[in-house]
Amino acid sequence: MPEKIDIHGVMIDNVTMDEALERVIQMLGEPRPHAIYTPNAEIIMQSTRDAELKDILNAADLVVPDGAGVILASKILNRRLKQKVSGVDLTKRIFMNTDKRATSFFIFGGKPGVAEMASVNILSEFPRANIVGFRNGYFKEEDIPEIIKQINASRAEIVLVALGAPKQEKWIHQHAGELNCKVLMGVGGSIDIFAGTAPMAPEFMRKSGFEWLYRLIKQPSRYKRMMDLPRFMMLTYKTKFKKGK
Ligand code: UDP
Repeated sequence: MPEKIDIHGVMIDNVTMDEALERVIQMLGEPRPHAIYTPNAEIIMQSTRDAELKDILNAADLVVPDGAGVILASKILNRRLKQKVSGVDLTKRIFMNTDKRATSFFIFGGKPGVAEMASVNILSEFPRANIVGFRNGYFKEEDIPEIIKQINASRAEIVLVALGAPKQEKWIHQHAGELNCKVLMGVGGSIDIFAGTAPMAPEFMRKSGFEWLYRLIKQPSRYKRMMDLPRFMMLTYKTKFKKGK
């Protein structure tokens, strides 16, 4: 079991990208469904106000640090996480691994048409990523039994769930027991990156911790939600000085 690092009450697995991928491969060989979440600073801040979300994150099989903010906080708190393991990069690594082991996927989420576009792009790059089903992420409560049926009938090993946080985490936690897949992963806006409907930040911005700035420029409507980033850093410093570290 990898070491867990506490970032504001969310226990993050201290894994490298390679180690995270190893865990996913291991999950594929086990009989029960596993939950993987990829919290960034915004989601961790949300979890400080939403106890249900925090409990769900802490009950997961794998929780990886998505974003430079989480890594920076771990350094400030003297609980160093080994590496940023973002949801989009881990998902890509899982697709790349289909070279060695063909794997089936169900893509659930995004606006109508987005999952289909993502599937076409993924298949053209990773021909052994077998996309056995998809469904958009806009549904009513009464549609859920049908969605579960559709996912189970597809016999997908991995279900990528893109409903945005915390909806996707709550959906996965609530319905994992009804599904026959091996892995459920909350992927949020990554689906739009795979579909090509949202651009990925340039490499130098992703590396230097300015991905948030890129997102803000591209999607200014996110600014309210992004106020959680300075709050996250304030909380990090407050925690550091309270503990006298
Ligand atoms: N989404 C969805 N159903 C919903 C809300 C959101 O399928 O009820 C999709 C949305 O279309 C987008 C993805 O979830 O493709 C991520 O949404 P957002 O960017 O708001 O979330 P984040 O990745 O920032 O958590």
